[in-house]
Amino acid sequence: MYELNICHLYPDLLNLYGDRGNIIALKRRCEWRGINVNVSNISIGDNFDAESYDIIFLGGGQNYEQEILHDDVINQKGNEIRNAINNNKVFLAVCGGYQLLGKYYKTWDGKEIQFLDAVDFWTIGDKKRMIGDFVFECDFLKENGFDGKVVGFENHSGRTYLGPNVKPLGKIIKGYGNNGKDGFEGALYKNVYCTYSHGSLLPKNPAFADHLIALSLKQKYKDFVSLSYLNDEFEELANRTMIKRIIG
Ligand code: GLN
Repeated sequence: MYELNICHLYPDLLNLYGDRGNIIALKRRCEWRGINVNVSNISIGDNFDAESYDIIFLGGGQNYEQEILHDDVINQKGNEIRNAINNNKVFLAVCGGYQLLGKYYKTWDGKEIQFLDAVDFWTIGDKKRMIGDFVFECDFLKENGFDGKVVGFENHSGRTYLGPNVKPLGKIIKGYGNNGKDGFEGALYKNVYCTYSHGSLLPKNPAFADHLIALSLKQKYKDFVSLSYLNDEFEELANRTMIKRIIG
């Protein structure tokens, strides 16, 4: 029986708009297929051994929470996170968690905070927040006839800019994404998936959830070929209804 170990980093601090729903979706979609899932919650002061996990999740958090965990993430867990990324570990990072993986964050009121420098991007805040439902399109999801469209919700002051070796996660169809200017959303580097899309990202977008599950099973089990079929009639109806409503 296949088994996945998922780590939720800082679940008590990085969990805006129900970001934990992503973990629930991963777990449920695995269990429906007979794949066992263990979830570990690792926060400030906890020992973090990245090798014990197959998927590492960082949710969103405001500047306030980012400051609270700053010392722990930089000084206690930083090396482990950077090594895990270099060793192709699967990560999903949302908004505040996404920003943390980058080089620095300059807040809208001029404070510059050094972040993990695990992936080549940086974030600069602005007074005007970027808020709303949004839709973007991911090439890596365009398989089996699926159009790659993802629906999400964003709320951030930070504008993120990607370095030359980092690809965007997707192309904005409607909304702001990384910075409201270049038309891109999120970041993709090795097996690190970063997005501004909060809360119910994976429950709303089952194809994205399955992509992460299949990727981590492929990493772990040599004999893994593909995921078994699930009836996603309701999930797909909800997804298509929202996309139609947002795009207009
Ligand atoms: N501090 C960040 C910002 O406002 C993150 C916010 C969030 O995670 N929603 O840009």
